[in-house]
Amino acid sequence: MRSDCLNGLPVSQGIAIGRAFLYSQEEPERPTGTIRAGEEEQQLRLLEQSEQKAREELEAGIARFDQSQQEKADIFSAHLEILNDPCMLEGIQQRIRDEHSTCEKAVWDTYQEILDAFADIEDPVFKGRAADMKDVRNRLLRCCAGRPAPDLSLLDHPVILLAKDLSPSDTACLPREYVLGIAAEVGGATSHTAILARSCGIPAVLGVEGLMAATAPEQTVIVDALNGRVFLEPDPDTLAAYEGSRTAWLRAQKADARFLERRAVTLDGTEILTEVNLGSVADAYSKAAACADGAGLLRTEFLYMGAKELPDEETQYQAYAEILQAFGDRPVILRTLDIGGDKHLPYLELPKEKNPFLGLRALRFCFANEELFRTQLRAAYRASVRGNLWIMFPMVGSMDDFRRARQICQEVQEELETRNLPFRRDVKLGIMIEIPSIALMADQVAKETDFASIGTNDLCQYTCAADRLNPAVAAYYQARNPGLLRLIRYVAEAYAAEGKPVGVCGELAADPETAPVLVGLGIRTLSMSGGALGSVRRALAGKSLKDMQSEAQRLMQL
Ligand code: PEP
Ligand code: MG
Repeated sequence: MRSDCLNGLPVSQGIAIGRAFLYSQEEPERPTGTIRAGEEEQQLRLLEQSEQKAREELEAGIARFDQSQQEKADIFSAHLEILNDPCMLEGIQQRIRDEHSTCEKAVWDTYQEILDAFADIEDPVFKGRAADMKDVRNRLLRCCAGRPAPDLSLLDHPVILLAKDLSPSDTACLPREYVLGIAAEVGGATSHTAILARSCGIPAVLGVEGLMAATAPEQTVIVDALNGRVFLEPDPDTLAAYEGSRTAWLRAQKADARFLERRAVTLDGTEILTEVNLGSVADAYSKAAACADGAGLLRTEFLYMGAKELPDEETQYQAYAEILQAFGDRPVILRTLDIGGDKHLPYLELPKEKNPFLGLRALRFCFANEELFRTQLRAAYRASVRGNLWIMFPMVGSMDDFRRARQICQEVQEELETRNLPFRRDVKLGIMIEIPSIALMADQVAKETDFASIGTNDLCQYTCAADRLNPAVAAYYQARNPGLLRLIRYVAEAYAAEGKPVGVCGELAADPETAPVLVGLGIRTLSMSGGALGSVRRALAGKSLKDMQSEAQRLMQL
């Protein structure tokens, strides 16, 4: 037997071995065609069977989630309601009988009529309803074609997940316990799919060209996310070798885990704050979170991406309060909504942009949708009484951006005061440094902000002009580019001069080889996915600050 081996980018370390599950989520095209007289009954039978199948899938979806994940069950319940709507069912039957449509065409046209009516309504509730209807329509069409469900949340056995592309919301809905490894054709090391895979501790290789064409369902697959290789139907020797490597990897993981409970101190005694990035409420209860010095980045997008409509103030308040409480006195840096780029909300139709990473993203999106921004800030300030909250704005490009955001915070506080709602007045306000235009203003912005955190994932893509998702330019996305390192040092020095904290919360902080370089550049706070905390603490404990500084100097001269 021969092993097929494909190459890609290892984005979430580890080795996984299992059976392939092929995930594809193609938008169906409008079916065409009519039937001959006398074929109506057959099409009506097909409709009935397809509806029954779709119903069973949705009911299984509802049953899968317990009360702690009620919002996911609610999505399936809402879809079941649409499917069972007698007006929809009658509309489809009528089209088969009167217009001699095929079952698929009748389904499409019936749903499309409603979708067209919703198209011009800007209300987010209607947008959300339209997204749900599309989802149900696509499910029904797939059942008509007799294709199995690609719904990731319905996975009920261990698999290696293979896909052309995985959206961040696909990844957010993954049942972690059943996904042993991930390989996909699209995505780079700092794509949000990669970040979510790391936070779940799932080995992943992205940017694997030709993956889907080369794989069949149920094949045995090895995901080597240490070296960036994916083996399809490996021969017995390769399989045995990888079983051995997997055991060795798990052993090394255990050694790192011993450092989880020790704070990070360099060989010559400099203490480094090591914090965790959070992407869900559950992350706040992980072992790593319990051991961390704080939460250096709370990606609040999870609340928006896992939902079917905009989360209201109360929902957000509950989630933020729970996380703050779990951290006690330790700081939690809440990053305001960072949507756009590769992160979409199914219920909000964002304008199609040619360069979404240079477009209406993050803070810019919040300024354009100010009510949504104010709702989030109200929830955050209200939650502030439950812990040690810091608020941080993503994609700040100028002093004006920060001042405008700070002004809105001021107004939100006044509003809460008028409503007699308690909040803390000492919440620190800071920025992410992700855009070179603000990095180069660090001396000024350090005076006005309370703190900063360098988002190296974006700072690297904007400094090197290399899309963080595009495997074709991965070689240009240089995390150790001397220009990038000099920018980081400049920002670190500017904040140190003001005596204000500055950290790194991009993926560079999670790399045990690069974390000491960041310390050598003057950074004293590193925030990373929980899975990296042990290995980074171990790496920092093994070197002196002096050696880290010389290494940083050497790299900046290259
Ligand atoms: C970053 O850009 O480094 C960052 C932490 O933000 P995100 O990866 O969520 O864009
Ligand atoms: Mg970013």
